[in-house]
Amino acid sequence: MEELTAKQLRDKIASGQIKSLDAVNDVFSRIEKYEPVIGAYISTFKEQAIEQAEQVDKKVSAGEPLGQLAGVPIAVKDNMCTTFGATTCASKILENFHAPYNATAVEKLIAADAVIIGKTNLDEFAMGSSTENSGLKKTVNPWDTTRVPGGSSGGATASVAARMCSAALGSDTGGSIRQPASFCGVVGLKPTYGRVSRYGLVAYGSSLDQIGPVTQTVEDAALMLNVIAGHDSSDSTSVNETIAPTYDYLEKLNEPVEKLKIAVAPQLNAGADQQVQNTLHEAINIYKNLGAEIIEVKMPHLDYAIAAYYIIATAEASSNLARYDGVHYGHRTQNPKDYVEVYSKSRAEAFGQEVKRRIMLGTYALSSGYYDAYYLKALKVRNLIRSDFTKAFEKCDCVMMPVAPTTAFKIGEKTSDPLQMYLSDIYTIAANLAGIPGISIPCGFDDKDLPIGLQILSPAFTEDKLLRIAKMYEKENNWYDKRPNI
Ligand code: GLN
Repeated sequence: MEELTAKQLRDKIASGQIKSLDAVNDVFSRIEKYEPVIGAYISTFKEQAIEQAEQVDKKVSAGEPLGQLAGVPIAVKDNMCTTFGATTCASKILENFHAPYNATAVEKLIAADAVIIGKTNLDEFAMGSSTENSGLKKTVNPWDTTRVPGGSSGGATASVAARMCSAALGSDTGGSIRQPASFCGVVGLKPTYGRVSRYGLVAYGSSLDQIGPVTQTVEDAALMLNVIAGHDSSDSTSVNETIAPTYDYLEKLNEPVEKLKIAVAPQLNAGADQQVQNTLHEAINIYKNLGAEIIEVKMPHLDYAIAAYYIIATAEASSNLARYDGVHYGHRTQNPKDYVEVYSKSRAEAFGQEVKRRIMLGTYALSSGYYDAYYLKALKVRNLIRSDFTKAFEKCDCVMMPVAPTTAFKIGEKTSDPLQMYLSDIYTIAANLAGIPGISIPCGFDDKDLPIGLQILSPAFTEDKLLRIAKMYEKENNWYDKRPNI
């Protein structure tokens, strides 16, 4: 059943052609076979999944109404709270943390009759670009097991690429859905900030974090967004439908895109590998042949996106992660000599190196005397980046650029140089700073047969159009048909 997309599988389950139980068993036999090599999952829930599948099959035979993901095996990044299993954030500090509630996005999956099969690996607290910062395990890229899957949603994208689930939920603070999607040859959508509830998503950079789908196709991304999008009174930053309505993204997918205008920023793209640039060029040519007009824009402030992001994200992280004090959550040090040691030793023992680095960076940027020079300045740059996009979108429907400057790099290649690692987010970070939606779709391969992604960015709350634009390309190039040889 691995050849079926989530949408195709859902339709076959709903029409009784395939049993959800068979689909779930099939996924678990793939997990048994490939997981020892790929390492995508932190936990799996076979028994519970089988029960859920049987319930869906019963509903099908009774002719009861079915949810949009009825019987489809879905994985969830392990930084979203679930009442079943642990919610670890791939951190030793939360290794045994059991959440008392489900994240809203997870609740919505369950309400749509999805079968949750497991929770996927990530960089600890979603801090990283390769999943190598996971405190719990290693994940490799299904296209080349000597390479990283990208990060931080590397477990989710590897698991979709290896068809160890039909689709997954990831989270994207600075590219963590799009960049690993590109490295693993799958589709990754970061919705507009506020489109999907963050309730129950363990906070990293609260003004940047957003949950989104990782899928095989653009159609599946639309299907997943249908299920998870919408206002949630438990998340004050989720946007009200009266201000920005949600759509039936699947239905909208078939509407034509009239007079598509695409912007590119050549000065920006020049930083990518030659093969990435060439592939991007070919992809944009396909749009041109379909009648799109291509214009050039300058987005001068995007050059400062990395610098601004790593101040804002770390500042927010240092505050968000203060709650892991050895008292409220997770790991507590043994035999502390006083309460100060409870805090300091618990944190020192259980946080990984990168998380500590970020907490220190963020604390420094927020400290008095440096606040104006760093944090405030970064917020100003963020506004300028936003206005770069606003100006560009006055002239076009979307901006296209690479997802990452390179294809998947070797395991260990960048671990000793954090700055090199940070630079792999150079193309994805701006969308989070601006709060706009972005999608990564497979658009070819390099000479090592590693996937390359095309990134499309559009104005806030235009996911419907963004998906249609992505679909235009996908219709011409079915890269999702090509599978990794694991
Ligand atoms: N790689 C970026 C970081 O480490 C983005 C991570 C993310 O999107 N969660 O902050």
